[in-house]
Amino acid sequence: MAGKNIMQKKVSCAAIALTLLLGACCQSPSTASSDSSGLAAGKIVPITPASKEFFEMDAFKTRSGKTVQFYAVKHASIHIDYDGKTFEIDPVVKLGDRVTDYSAFPKADHILVTHEHADHFDKDAIALLTAEKTTLITNARCAGMLGYGQIMANGDIAQLFEDCTVEAVPAYNITEGHLQFHPRGRDNGYILTLDGLRIYIAGDTEDIPEMAQIKDIDIAFLPCNQPYTMTADQLIKAAKLIRPRVLFPYHYSQTDVSTLPEQLKNDGIEIMIRHYE
Ligand SMILES: [Zn+2]
Repeated sequence: MAGKNIMQKKVSCAAIALTLLLGACCQSPSTASSDSSGLAAGKIVPITPASKEFFEMDAFKTRSGKTVQFYAVKHASIHIDYDGKTFEIDPVVKLGDRVTDYSAFPKADHILVTHEHADHFDKDAIALLTAEKTTLITNARCAGMLGYGQIMANGDIAQLFEDCTVEAVPAYNITEGHLQFHPRGRDNGYILTLDGLRIYIAGDTEDIPEMAQIKDIDIAFLPCNQPYTMTADQLIKAAKLIRPRVLFPYHYSQTDVSTLPEQLKNDGIEIMIRHYE
């Protein structure tokens, strides 16, 4: 833990600068020069004042100046706050020795599940986060296992509310011997668009050719662990193909992602390493 904290401190200065820049780029000119709205990078905060757990949080501005906050829950689990709405991506209570108390989280407006593996799909977490208002979006297999859910297949687009759309995109393996983990066409990645801010959450995938069609991404979450997703070299290839403005390596387990900022420093991509191992 101590070593990781040092690493995070090192990235945080650059991250703050980029975040403020990104915020400024996305704002209307009338507000760009007077921003003091709590944009933060890598700040350690609880999801709610009542929550006993603390997470790294990064904030970004949308086109009309609204704030989107990403909380690094763990591995593939991301909590997103936007304009009074909460999104939970692949919420999972227990992963190895990491346990998340979702009972202390606010009920979700939208839960997005990419696929059925235990580090992405957890009925207990879904139950703890679900209220009457909650919509759950997932692939056909998880909806089948749950007995409910709004099914999205690769290529489907849904409007969740006025300035929010979600698109399901392919996520699968291409390396011989790994194809059985995530067969093509079964699982989802998602592109979430919030007031013009385009967020790509890749799910469990390798650097598939469809990534060439994933454009204008502001913030990307790309997985990096073998044998299930990408090597660090594959992640770099994927990043160069997608060219997000900000990249969060996630789902990286024991993979060393500390050299990614150096390896992508000439590509105009800001790498934010958070506790998504
Ligand atoms: Zn998986």
